[in-house]
Amino acid sequence: MKFGGTSLSSANKVRNVSKIVKDHSHHHQITIVASALSGVTNSLVRLSEQAKVSSSEKIAIELDKLSELHTNISKNSIKDSKIKDEVLENISSTLDELKRLLEGISALGEITPRSRDLILSFGERLAVLVIIGALKDIRVNAKHFNGAEAGIVTDEEYGEANPLMSITKMKISKTLQPLLSKGIVPVVTGFMAATQTGDITTLGRGGSDFTATILGAALSADEIWICTDVNGMMTTDPKVMPNARTIPQLSYSEALEMTVFGAKALHPRALEPAQENKISVRVKNTFNLSGPDTLISNDQSVDRGEVAKSVALIKDVAMVNIEGAGMVGKPGIAAKIFDTFARKEINILMISQSVSEANISLVIRRNHLEKIINTLEISLLGRGFANRVNAEDDVGVIAVVGAGMQGSQGVAARVFKAVAEKGINIRMIAQGSSELNISIVIKEKNCEKAVMAIHEEFGMGKP
Ligand code: ADP
Ligand code: ASP
Ligand code: MG
Repeated sequence: MKFGGTSLSSANKVRNVSKIVKDHSHHHQITIVASALSGVTNSLVRLSEQAKVSSSEKIAIELDKLSELHTNISKNSIKDSKIKDEVLENISSTLDELKRLLEGISALGEITPRSRDLILSFGERLAVLVIIGALKDIRVNAKHFNGAEAGIVTDEEYGEANPLMSITKMKISKTLQPLLSKGIVPVVTGFMAATQTGDITTLGRGGSDFTATILGAALSADEIWICTDVNGMMTTDPKVMPNARTIPQLSYSEALEMTVFGAKALHPRALEPAQENKISVRVKNTFNLSGPDTLISNDQSVDRGEVAKSVALIKDVAMVNIEGAGMVGKPGIAAKIFDTFARKEINILMISQSVSEANISLVIRRNHLEKIINTLEISLLGRGFANRVNAEDDVGVIAVVGAGMQGSQGVAARVFKAVAEKGINIRMIAQGSSELNISIVIKEKNCEKAVMAIHEEFGMGKP
């Protein structure tokens, strides 16, 4: 069972989670994965960016806020004074360790990807201290581990590390299985792991979901539960469309398309260990555990002639257009472009090329834009490959996903019509050959309106 930051952001919520764990531990062997409390990873990201130039006073102010948050939640969720004191002491010494690291970075004036990951891992480490205290307080026999101690071993791709599954599986079952057999509940920090030489790594933003499925696979779990703050995977982000509906069942591939395209409810890579080991994933609402939820498994059901199951929105993207008559009929141009992105380690989310070949458009994360434009200009413009590279950073991607779209005609037409009827111009279109998804790029200011129009067109909000 994995609990996200949104399930842990107050003392009441921590108590709620502890109670859920206690209730389920009576009849099941369970392992808990916890994320950082809501907002904490973002503040660690800021701290790591500013530490290079910050004074120790500034660092101290930020750290005080983290201390206050974790201390208050512990004080209000743990009754037993002995347990409470121990937790408060652990929080304080963990924050001291973080402070020393940040001061080191500030003194050096430099942060490496490796030290950044070490800093980001503190959010989960602090969260687990609070939860373990709350569990012990209600007499749950629990033991906490960080991801590395639990046995998750990764490569050295800091910030987005990849688990080395064979060794990871072996280590996890050696560490955690004996505890489970004794009725002890392991509580593991999400998001963090370590390289083979023991340096701390992180699994990418939202990576606690991935931790949960890695552990689930290693322990041959019956089910993996991702507990969040909404009723499972929904037809669209309920924060955008209040009438978004829970999708009761998704195949791994459908869920993957949804997550890649911004359905934040799940980390995109989280499905890999589950799918490989044929373990079902349930996305549930921590605050309404017996309410509607989503089961993700091998089955691909197409209900009620439903062609499109969900519509997702990603906003922090930019579109790069590369144009030029010199590109027509010249083999290798696309390869040259992709190679430029690869060398800068920039992931391309969407690609489209017109038949005339005079134009290739790509969508990337917005924060990568600056890094790529100059490089593209140098590698393409000077050499007669292309004569214009431009970028739009005020766009968003809308992705319509559903297995029912395979081989069903007119879906794209309905998407375009719904958007056009709202007077919104489509800047770029792509459909994967899997036919599980159609994506369009439009101006960011129109995104919400377009999501609503598509949601309506396919009747996704109707029970
Ligand atoms: P957690 O703290 O549990 O990891 P996240 O904030 O990472 O929570 O993800 C849950 C959020 O994802 C929801 O609150 C919801 O606003 C957002 N979301 C976006 N698209 C979807 C979708 N299609 N279905 C469910 N949630 C979605
Ligand atoms: N705390 C990490 C993040 O905010 C991991 C997670 O929440 O899953 O990205
Ligand atoms: Mg998340």
